[in-house]
Amino acid sequence: MKNVGITTTIPVEVIFASGNIPIDLNNIFIGSDKYSEYIDFAEKEGLPKSMCAWIKGLYGACLKNNINTIVGVLEGDCSNTKVLSELLAEKGVEVVPFSYPYDNNINKLKKSIDELISYFNIDIDKVEKIREQLNLIRDRALYIDHLTYKENKASGFENHLNLVSTSDFNRDYIMFSQYIEDNIRIIEKKDKFRDKIRLAYIGVPPMTVDIYQFLEERESRIVYNEVQREFAFPRNRDAKNIYEQYTDYTYPYNLKIRLNEIKKQIKLRKIDAVIHYTQAFCHRAAENIIIKKELDVPLLNIEGDKLKFLDARTKLRIEAFIDMVKDLKVME
Ligand code: SF4
Repeated sequence: MKNVGITTTIPVEVIFASGNIPIDLNNIFIGSDKYSEYIDFAEKEGLPKSMCAWIKGLYGACLKNNINTIVGVLEGDCSNTKVLSELLAEKGVEVVPFSYPYDNNINKLKKSIDELISYFNIDIDKVEKIREQLNLIRDRALYIDHLTYKENKASGFENHLNLVSTSDFNRDYIMFSQYIEDNIRIIEKKDKFRDKIRLAYIGVPPMTVDIYQFLEERESRIVYNEVQREFAFPRNRDAKNIYEQYTDYTYPYNLKIRLNEIKKQIKLRKIDAVIHYTQAFCHRAAENIIIKKELDVPLLNIEGDKLKFLDARTKLRIEAFIDMVKDLKVME
């Protein structure tokens, strides 16, 4: 049994079925008190200042935690993962390539998943059995999403944390299942939020997780975490097999597919405004041009860099934005 680092959501069923342990490098980077040391280490190793902090954090987290194998998503997630994989391979890390086809083609994705299955030397039946078990747990994580936007009991951060953790099930899906049930029990007993503004958070999961509390202190709450929800495969019941399930996953494919789902959720969740988070030096920042044009609710684009908390300027921008959205609501 070995630890297998992952750089984003991949068919984690394959790793569990092979008896190995998936570790989402994003979670160990951002969940660590030493997160800035991981970035500093990467910069000392020569990764440029003008590279996104997540990539540097993943590099540091992988090497400092002695993770010797990773699944690198070379297409469909991040244009920097390819070079990250090459840098880690240079350091002796075994890189297992995986790709999401840009055009969302199920046959190409099947080829990619089959290669992963063959690398880990298991058969598809075992993978499907694990998929069934994981989907039961995903559904419970998605119940927390329901408790967020429908019952108004879960905070934006609770929603974020429980959904984002389904990328690797905190490395142990049996324990994770228990963890989710405990969280559900706590959230169900809570009083309902009485927010004035309902928000969507779209884009890569934030480095600055204090954003949730900051907003809630201003009578507004994130009731839709776009990418984190996709990690939990909200439409998994429509998929007959792992190939269909991972084809019906919006984030790694083209923006149009993501936007269709975002628009649907804005309507369903009665969302007043959108916060689009982008990371400094990330190619995805340019997507804001299209997103802004396509959505018909107010949108604020904020950018994070190396800090794990909101800086003063971003706080001011968020406050002004929330005030503006409140005024708009009064005028309706
Ligand atoms: S923030 Fe952008 S550049 Fe950084 S890892 Fe994520 S997708 Fe890649």
